[in-house]
Amino acid sequence: MSSLKKDYFFQNVRKLNGVGTQLSKYLKKKKIEKIKDILLNLPYSETDRSKISDLNSLEIGKIQTIKVKVKKINFPRIRNLPNKILCENESGKIEIVYFNSREGYLRKIFPINEWVVISGKVNFFNKNYQITNPDYVTSLDKEEYVAKNIPKYNLTKGINEKKYRSISEQVVKNIPIIDDWLDSKFLKMNNFLNWNDTFKSLHFSGEARDINSNSYRRLVFDEICANFITLSKNRARVKSNKLEKLFNGLLSKKVENFLPFKLTGGQINALKEINEDLRSNKRMFRILQGDVGSGKTIISLLSIANVIESGYQCALMGPTEILTSQHFNFAQKIFDKKKIKIEFLSSKTETTKRNKILKELKDGKIDLLIGTHSLFQKKIKFKKLGYVVIDEQHKFGVKQRLELAKKGGKNCDLLLMSATPIPRTMMMSLYGDMDVSKIMEKPFGRKKIITLSKPEKKIDELWNFIRKYISNKNQIFWVCPLIEDSKILDYTSAKKKYEIINNKFPNKVGLIHGALEKNDKEKVLKKFLSKEISILVSTTVIEVGIDFPNANLIVIENANKFGLAQLHQLRGRVGRGNQQGTCILLFKDGLSKNAIKRIRILKESDDGFFIAEEDLKLRGFGDLIGYQQSGIKIFKFADPVIHDDIFKLAEDFVSEIENEINNEKYSFLLKLFDKSEIIKFSDFE
Ligand code: ADP
Ligand code: MG
Repeated sequence: MSSLKKDYFFQNVRKLNGVGTQLSKYLKKKKIEKIKDILLNLPYSETDRSKISDLNSLEIGKIQTIKVKVKKINFPRIRNLPNKILCENESGKIEIVYFNSREGYLRKIFPINEWVVISGKVNFFNKNYQITNPDYVTSLDKEEYVAKNIPKYNLTKGINEKKYRSISEQVVKNIPIIDDWLDSKFLKMNNFLNWNDTFKSLHFSGEARDINSNSYRRLVFDEICANFITLSKNRARVKSNKLEKLFNGLLSKKVENFLPFKLTGGQINALKEINEDLRSNKRMFRILQGDVGSGKTIISLLSIANVIESGYQCALMGPTEILTSQHFNFAQKIFDKKKIKIEFLSSKTETTKRNKILKELKDGKIDLLIGTHSLFQKKIKFKKLGYVVIDEQHKFGVKQRLELAKKGGKNCDLLLMSATPIPRTMMMSLYGDMDVSKIMEKPFGRKKIITLSKPEKKIDELWNFIRKYISNKNQIFWVCPLIEDSKILDYTSAKKKYEIINNKFPNKVGLIHGALEKNDKEKVLKKFLSKEISILVSTTVIEVGIDFPNANLIVIENANKFGLAQLHQLRGRVGRGNQQGTCILLFKDGLSKNAIKRIRILKESDDGFFIAEEDLKLRGFGDLIGYQQSGIKIFKFADPVIHDDIFKLAEDFVSEIENEINNEKYSFLLKLFDKSEIIKFSDFE
């Protein structure tokens, strides 16, 4: 196919007949800038003008099409009176009414004694049928332009429907015939139309309204492929050549042997995959997924041991001071201090200490640096950084992830860890640029968290239980959906609850929420960790990664307010060790069916991956946690629930074309969906 033809799609809409400066400004507001954007702006409905109605059976208030002879035109000489055109046919008479129209124009479109086709909304006034300012008036030979289903587009002010239609028809009717990137066999097998016909069908036959129609599904397939191919291209770039890491695994084995537990099958497998990547001559760009408590930290540390053994420095980064200092303590416990030097760095590290660390890093004296994102400030230079691990990464989107991949230089491997299980259909869309390792099972001996539900009004039954619970030196999380009481929402607020509970158990309660300063938050968390307080009332601000070995009960208020996956994550704060964890879900009466179902699923399952799938089904993918947090809307047309099968199809397709991914026909596809913003090769050199 000539590239000239393809260029057509990416030209500015102003190249089209009838689009001037003004209109193009309005179109831009609708994100229609290039000609291809008109193709992708699908009609949301259509108006049926196909039937020619008799004048004696018109329906008032409805859009109808008639075929009539022009009898007479009245142009009143008094201002503000409408112009009237009298028309008739064998079935009756009708008046066509115009306000503020020019005489010459009307005389031209209504030639006396000629037949015309008129379409517009019919009304009844002074015992006459009327159409006021009809949408269409044409001569008989143009009947087919009007008398049919006419697509309706979502437009903004300033764009006239008829005008837009003429523009979109100009484009859709005249799409240059391009070679389809799908071969005819594949199209046939999946009931897809070819690319050109797909758009004709979407715009002109109402298929755009049915997201299960064949042409809509074809469009969805293309969109998903564009996304997968982009990620796949990025992946190829990130996984550039590097020096292989040479180690025999002795150090890591030694650490493993001293652990008080045995690794699970899932952990062993993940570690094996990571080690293979480290040893290969391609950079690692991998995500380690595992439910809360599945034991990801130790896997990262064992792989870190291998990288240290091969003579490189490592960095382990996490989102907060508390979480990373727990990692630091754990690492110090399992590594031999005399042989491996580990340091901790955060924004709070004092200057002298900090300067010392910076110098030792540069001299290559520190083997492993653990800390918050302050690890990645410009001033911090490693002598020989070979491995970066990032914990709880679900807060980052694709772009940030690529930023991270750039850090550390040519020989640096990257491992991300996330406790947000992603539904299978979303896996490729969100992490198609990465290799994925999953830990599916929990450590041996871990007890299933007991999940109970209780109506709020019976809360009094809880207090005795709690009194006993904390007198045994146990600790409790108490989660509320709001920080402060709200006039609009009838939910429990953390502040209010704090007062209530603090009255009952003075000096035993702490409060933490998103409006607190980071330092104040950490102060309260530390008090809880050191058991100064027994009950921590909070909103959802505390991340799941932190280990509170002594807190094994969590109470969640207004449990129906939270999504399934979110409840599962909250619940994962307890029962991380060998203790029995308990989760009490409080709710108001009158739960919706959906809420009851959520609670039931939660009681039955503690498998984060299963719960993520169910959550997707119940809430739709816009609400997925992690997905939402990363703030990306990937798809305009595809819906991971409804088009589940197309996601699978696209996954297979893209893996099959992996070797010809740079073919020009696919770049056209990417450009169509604005996916061409791929990171430049030079970014990774
Ligand atoms: P997460 O995957 O949520 O980050 P962690 O790495 O924090 O989980 O592990 C949770 C707890 O389980 C930690 O106390 C850790 O030492 C422990 N742990 C990890 N692996 C095992 C195992 N195979 N058997 C028993 N306990 C384990
Ligand atoms: Mg963790």
